[in-house]
Amino acid sequence: MVFAGILPYNSDIFKAMVYRSSRYYESMQLTEDFYCYIWQGKGNNCNTCLFANVLRGERPHVIVDPGHITNEFGEACFDYFIKAMEGNGFKIGDIGLIINTHSHPDHCQANELVVKNSGAWITLSEEEDEFRNTLGEKLYSMLGVKVPQFTPLFYLKEGSLSLGTKNKVELEIFHTPGHSPGSICLYWPDNKILITGDVVFYGSIGRTDFPSGSLSLLKKSIDKLSQLDVECLVPGHSTEYGSIVKGKLNVERNFQAVKLFL
Ligand SMILES: [Zn+2]
Repeated sequence: MVFAGILPYNSDIFKAMVYRSSRYYESMQLTEDFYCYIWQGKGNNCNTCLFANVLRGERPHVIVDPGHITNEFGEACFDYFIKAMEGNGFKIGDIGLIINTHSHPDHCQANELVVKNSGAWITLSEEEDEFRNTLGEKLYSMLGVKVPQFTPLFYLKEGSLSLGTKNKVELEIFHTPGHSPGSICLYWPDNKILITGDVVFYGSIGRTDFPSGSLSLLKKSIDKLSQLDVECLVPGHSTEYGSIVKGKLNVERNFQAVKLFL
């Protein structure tokens, strides 16, 4: 089903936007090869992004933040994610790389199952991996959650990240601490898409009350992101205002509004 009426008409990337809803994930195709899976369940889980057919070889897909395996409501998030992907014709076994915006379990608990199914590589920032293995581990056990189990293949640094040679996707990585010390955001200049993890949401900002959280660092991170030319902001979670912020003007307004919290 295409809800053309709510899409801005001045941007090519929205012309191909297709929504398919299931009970647990809303699947949005934002470009020919880029999909967002927006979590719709009762409990907590993150949104997941998929760059399809970008890597060479037998496992061509790249995902950002596979989310929970099972959340606090017992919802089988990972099983539902597999179904949502299959609804678009993609298999979990064809994922070659997982990018984690940060190490909170609601973003990367399912890393281990993706790896089990596909042998995918994993990357995140070095700061975040260090946090996961030190303060993070303590925090997660206080919350009654096991620290997410995985071994990154390489670390992301601020700068450019080129995904594959098949359908080349050139990303810019921004180090955006505040919510978590090694949070990163991904910017795709060709399509003016910004994936923000838990740094900024539709009408809201990431919480900073966890250990190593910092409101002043979050403010600097959001100031940096707000300088970018963005048509589509994809946050890590939906809020009461919505999920994805669409259209340059709406993105600018969203940055103006969230800066009031800082
Ligand atoms: Zn988080």
